[in-house]
Amino acid sequence: MGRGIKHWVRPGIRQLSAYAVPNATGLIKLDAMENPYHWPEPLVEQWLATLRDVHLNRYPDPGSRQLIDTLRKVMDVPDSAAVLLGNGSDELIQIIAMTLAGPSRLIVAPEPGFVMYKMIATFVGMEYLGVPLEKDFSLDLSAMLKVIKQHQPAVIFLAYPNNPTGNLFDEQEICRIIEVSPGLVVLDEAYHAFAEASFMERLPEFDNLLVMRTVSKLGLAGLRLGLLAGAPAWIREFDKVRLPYNINTLTQVSADFALQHHEVLEAQTARIRADREKLMNDLHSIPGITVYPSQANFILFRVSAGEGNRVFQGLLEQGILIKNLSNSGGALRDCLRMTVGAPRENQVFLDALLNLTAKT
Ligand SMILES: *Cc1c(COP(=O)(O)O)cnc(C)c1O
Repeated sequence: MGRGIKHWVRPGIRQLSAYAVPNATGLIKLDAMENPYHWPEPLVEQWLATLRDVHLNRYPDPGSRQLIDTLRKVMDVPDSAAVLLGNGSDELIQIIAMTLAGPSRLIVAPEPGFVMYKMIATFVGMEYLGVPLEKDFSLDLSAMLKVIKQHQPAVIFLAYPNNPTGNLFDEQEICRIIEVSPGLVVLDEAYHAFAEASFMERLPEFDNLLVMRTVSKLGLAGLRLGLLAGAPAWIREFDKVRLPYNINTLTQVSADFALQHHEVLEAQTARIRADREKLMNDLHSIPGITVYPSQANFILFRVSAGEGNRVFQGLLEQGILIKNLSNSGGALRDCLRMTVGAPRENQVFLDALLNLTAKT
């Protein structure tokens, strides 16, 4: 008899649950920070015409050169920085972790935060330490500095704005963390399109800073494309760990096309930002709901004590899928997160929420 799963699969992996993605068929989908808009018809036609010349019998350009040129312009990457592409920024987190992994190597991130930092640490056998945020979800700087001093983390991930809380951390505090860190600090700017802040232009100031972006939240989630910018010496090391051809030809061509028409995505995200402000105001006026400030395309809110699961289920029964965070406990008890959708979707959500909270 061969030795089985219990023998061969590392305990850390056996204890994990796979990243859960609920089925959204037929639902108003406000759970995953997607841009709700597609492109105008003439643009779709133009895109399809571009695809006609694609040769799928050949491997993709391993260096994604054309796409990187376009991304550098659209995302204002400083000339002195190098760029690495990933199959979504999730893959970039994985590449960074694989490059740094080793016995007692540590990943640090504030919590509540993006769950993939911890999951990927487990995948590659790294230690992970979550540092609690303050009650208002700002950084606990002294706790962060203490952890850095005591544990010398290989890498710190800071989502800017943070997911699932939606806020931007203080710029000065982030600089302090970068300055005292012996390892890398990755600014995860997944929600850059909705925030008025970025560390991209500050890259040349720090040799241990990396800035990560994705096109997912911008409106191209289906393509799976993320970007990491930083000092060329660091990027060269990460590039060794990247699998060849990780960015497929359809993604390279389609992302390049879409970014050449960046003004279309720009108009959509401006619309989403304006609708976010309207939603904020409307949510504020619902009794019993606490709304947290957001610089992203989602809003975190807290319902009355003990009501989180009931409100989430109630919305689901009315065909609206948002994200239920109330079972993650602690700071997120009774918290729900909704993605800003199209105006009609937002209104259906608001009406349903108003109804559900009036019943308590
Ligand atoms: C959504 C998200 C990502 C992942 O983006 P992909 O490029 O789609 O893999 C990374 N970081 C944060 C904070 C996110 O919210």
